[in-house]
This record gives sequence, C-alpha cells and structure tokens, in this order.
Amino acid sequence: MLVRVRFAPSPTGFLHIGGLRTALYNYLFAKQNNGIFILRIEDTDRNRYVEGAVENLIKTMHWSGIEYDEGPKIGGDKGPYFQSKRLNIYKKHILHLIENEKAYPCFYSKERLKKIEKENIPSNILTQQDQIYRNISVDESTARMKNENHVIRLKVPNNGSIEYNDQVRGKLKFDLSLIEDQILMKSDGYPTYHFANVVDDHLMEITHVIRGEEWIASMPKHLLLYENFNWKKPEFIHLPLILNQDKTKLSKRQNDVAVEDYITNGYLKKAFINYLSLLGWHGSGDQELYTLDELIKDFSINRIQKSGAIFDIKKLNWMNNHYIKKLEPQEILDKFLKNNIDLKDQITLPMIKLIYEKIERLTDIPEELNFLFEFKFENEKCREILDYKSSKTVLKSFTSKLEKISILDSKSFKSIVSKIQDEIKVGGKNLWMPLRIAVTGKMHGPDVASIVEILGKEVCLQRLNNIIND
Ligand code: GLU
Repeated sequence: MLVRVRFAPSPTGFLHIGGLRTALYNYLFAKQNNGIFILRIEDTDRNRYVEGAVENLIKTMHWSGIEYDEGPKIGGDKGPYFQSKRLNIYKKHILHLIENEKAYPCFYSKERLKKIEKENIPSNILTQQDQIYRNISVDESTARMKNENHVIRLKVPNNGSIEYNDQVRGKLKFDLSLIEDQILMKSDGYPTYHFANVVDDHLMEITHVIRGEEWIASMPKHLLLYENFNWKKPEFIHLPLILNQDKTKLSKRQNDVAVEDYITNGYLKKAFINYLSLLGWHGSGDQELYTLDELIKDFSINRIQKSGAIFDIKKLNWMNNHYIKKLEPQEILDKFLKNNIDLKDQITLPMIKLIYEKIERLTDIPEELNFLFEFKFENEKCREILDYKSSKTVLKSFTSKLEKISILDSKSFKSIVSKIQDEIKVGGKNLWMPLRIAVTGKMHGPDVASIVEILGKEVCLQRLNNIIND
C-alpha cells in the first residue's frame, strides 16, 4: 500500500505552531514509508479567508524544510488542491447522498435567513422545524432545491452508535443520538469542512489522517459519511494538544503561537523542527537532538503521546543555542544581517565570535553586543570595585601604557597586562576585574583581550579616562 497523507490547513492567517507540527508528523510518516505528502488548502469558509495567507503558509513550510509532493503550485494527479476549485466535485457527491436518502436539503425561509444574518445566529443550529425536511421525498426535495434557499444536512440516525480505532487514543465510540444533522453544504453552494474533508481524503486516496485532537469531535460525522458512501476509511491519528506551562491550551497571551514569529525572533529551522518533533512524540531511546533525516528514521506513530504536550520555551531556547553554536560565526553573521541589513556596518565577524556561543536567538545579538557601542555600568557593584585603591592603580598604569602604544590588539594588550603585573604586583581578580569593568561596564563576559581589540585604542582610552576623571 502506498502511504498518502495530507496537511490540510485553512488559510485564515498565520501558520500556528500546532499546524506546523501536524505538517511535520505527516511529512515524517510519508518519508519514512516512501509515501506521498500532500498539501491541501481548505478554503471553503469564505468568511474566514485571509488574503495572502496561502502564500505565507507555503513560504513558512518552505522555510522549515517540510516540502510537499503534491499541492498548490506543483500540482499532482489528484488536484485541484484548493477546495474552492473543487465545488463541482462536492456537488456531484452531495447529490449522490441525497438520492440515497443519506442527506437532505433543509429549506430556509427568507425570514429565517434574514434573522440569521441580522442576529448573527450560527446557521447550523437545527430547529424542530428543520427535522420535517428529513422525511420529504427525494423527488420533492430535488424539485424544491431548484428554486428555494437551502442548506444540505447529513441524516444522522436518531439512535445507535458509531466507533473507530484511533491509532493514538484507541477505541472511541460515539452516541449518535447526541449528534445533530450536520450541514454538509451551505446555502452559498460551498461545502462545510466536514463534507469537503471526507470527500477529498477519499478522492486523494489518503491512507492516514494525521491531525490535531480537536477534530476527534467531528469523527462521528466523518465516519457516517464514509459509511454512507461505502468508502474504505483511512487510519486516524489524532495528535495531542499543545499547552501553555499552566496546562491551558497554547495561547497568544502566554506564548507566540505563529511560526512566523519564531522566524523573526531568530530561531533556526533545525532547532525549531527538532523541538516541534518532541512536542507530543518521543524517540526510541534518550535521544533529543535530531536532524530531519534522523527523525524520518526514528519516527513512529506508536510513540505519539495521548496527553497534552507542554510548550517549554526554555527548552526551545536551549536547543536553538545548541544549533547556533554548531554554525560558523560567518554563517551566523550572514543569517543575522539578512533580517537586519541596517546593522551591516556595525556588526562584524569578530563581534559575533565574541558572543555566538552564548546567544539563544539570533535576535539576542544586538543586546549582547550593546556594551561595545554604549558604556554603562551593569550594577552598583561595578562602581564599588573600581573605587578600590588597587583598581585605581591598575587603571592608571594601564592607561599610561596604552597611551604609548600605536595599535591596541589582543597581543599588545596581553603584553601591557603582564608589564602591569610585574610593576605593581597585582594579579588575578584584582587585576582583571577592574580592567574588564572599565572597558565593558560588566563583571562577566567574553575574553577581555578580544574585546579591547574590537574597541580599539581610542575608545578604550576614552572609557578609561572617563572613569579615572569621574
Ligand atoms: N482545515 C482543517 C484545519 O484547518 C483541517 C483538519 C483536518 O486535518 O482534517 O485544521
């Protein structure tokens, strides 16, 4: 059997972290099985459609390295891959259901439609009055459909149950008496999500439906549709919710939820994908750091967890730092400048070398390097240390020696420092701390010799004189 899976987002704005995780798991499963990964755009809800959302989605997926085999732009045998371009297909299938008394048109009076519009009532609420249409003959229904306003509803049996075996959750059973006659086709001729989704999964020969668990509630309707059409059902794999630290559903108030935000905030795709892969799944051993290829090999539906996955920004930051450290400083600089071209003349390679092992995000770079451009004490302790008598002697001696050399680089700096050591017999912390604080304003940080080389003689002298004359 050829594995065929799909990611089926609705273009309603940005790509949610949960969406990219769904895309990733689908992709991993497809690649592992030499299968096909499809991108299908579910754009039948015209009210929620956002201009540019599809382009943005494709761009973001491309950034992440999750490439699809069939879908928008590249096409494929089972297209079109935009649901809005498949209206004829849904029409044909809905007629089949009506003819077989599995669905029925529900006629809305003009008054009711007006009321719905005016009071903003969800049009899917089923009234007692609607029930009568369940039993109108097919001939009468189809005749009235030609000139009366209607939606098409699924005829859900009034009793009994329906069940399926979820690959993550196990056997799930639903009481049909609690399910209302779902709208399959809206009065504007567009299908609802449920109908289009099932028809397309069948026609696109999807073998495994991998998606978020918020769709489990829709399963009875989907299962009924498969049965009504007499179609083979795919396997269903529902992924756990992604949660905030306090175990509420991941929300904008506590975390960034758009993948685009993580891109602008300086996360690397390798780190982001690695982290997402572990949000609801774990590897066969203790391994946590994975390349995409390693994930393809180790991924398994059996190890997808049932419980919600807590989004831990600290862990993501730790991972991002791990991947940043693996890059060459030049690569880091290039990546940084790509989004910060205005800083091209300010941020240089030696500066990146100073701090790259420490940063968690590329956007930390300006803040980490700020001490090179602007001098200020990070705390009162720094001033106190510079007030020590020994500190003053060190700084005076350093300044006078610095004035005499032509170029300050790390080599000339080291030789000045060893001269000071010999002359005034100060060493260790008492020597290094005042020097560091005087040129950086901080008690800790990168190697002082490399810092002074970047600052240069003039800036260092200026900083030292300001302190001495203070
Ligand atoms: N269009 C649905 C969404 O936006 C797809 C759900 C599914 O994968 O069935 O999430």
